[in-house]
Amino acid sequence: LEEAVRTADRLAALGTLAAGLAHEIKNPLGGIKGAAQLLEKELPEDSELLDYTRIMIKETQRVNRIVEELLALTTPKKLQLSKVNLHQILGDILTLQKNGLGNREIAFQQKFDPSIPPILADEEQLTQLFLNLIKNAVEAVGENGQIRISSRILSDYTLTQKGERRQRMVAVEISDDGPGMSREQLDQLFTPFFTTKSRGTGLGLAICHKIVTEHRGLIKVASELGKGTAFTIMLPLIQ
Ligand code: ADP
Ligand code: MG
Repeated sequence: LEEAVRTADRLAALGTLAAGLAHEIKNPLGGIKGAAQLLEKELPEDSELLDYTRIMIKETQRVNRIVEELLALTTPKKLQLSKVNLHQILGDILTLQKNGLGNREIAFQQKFDPSIPPILADEEQLTQLFLNLIKNAVEAVGENGQIRISSRILSDYTLTQKGERRQRMVAVEISDDGPGMSREQLDQLFTPFFTTKSRGTGLGLAICHKIVTEHRGLIKVASELGKGTAFTIMLPLIQ
């Protein structure tokens, strides 16, 4: 618990810093992006300089994303609870992801338990949670692979080791047959800024962890090098 309190304190302090930083960064960043877009319009269609304006615009978007993610991670936000249909959220994310695949051959399999009722949760945050996990799976499998998404009810899940607290939970599992992770990678998985991608932010899973914890749920990961990775999200089945 002490560790959790320390982490919360640290995040709150970071939150103040991040909010200030976000404000200071976003305005000049908007200026840079606007200027690059103007330049783009002024340049002839076949200008080689268009490569540079495109990079400028893309990179401002990247800085923007880092700032947004840092804010999502560090600013405390009250959960906006409503009855949320998990399968609808997952289905919408999958439709979007499938449309963005281009030439990649990624097969999605979904196996939902239709008896899962809507649960009381923050829809926007759950969307962010599953989007981050599904994007990671897509990025992990690369050019071709399989991603499975399933849901089930755990009718009597034991929350504590001694088994005195039991709870009805829904579990959503997102698994891929990508490269998997080493022990060292697994140990750092939820640490902010840990990334093995050249253009990653390393904030996605830290945000996932925060969202799941705020919903009093659990996030588990099983991974084996060369085989793949499975994330399981467990959320209390409160209607
Ligand atoms: P980012 O995606 O920006 O790198 P994340 O916090 O989402 O940041 O993920 C952190 C790291 O965890 C990734 O860089 C990757 O090394 C590892 N990782 C996450 N999901 C998977 C996965 N499905 N398969 C393999 N590695 C993963
Ligand atoms: Mg990610």
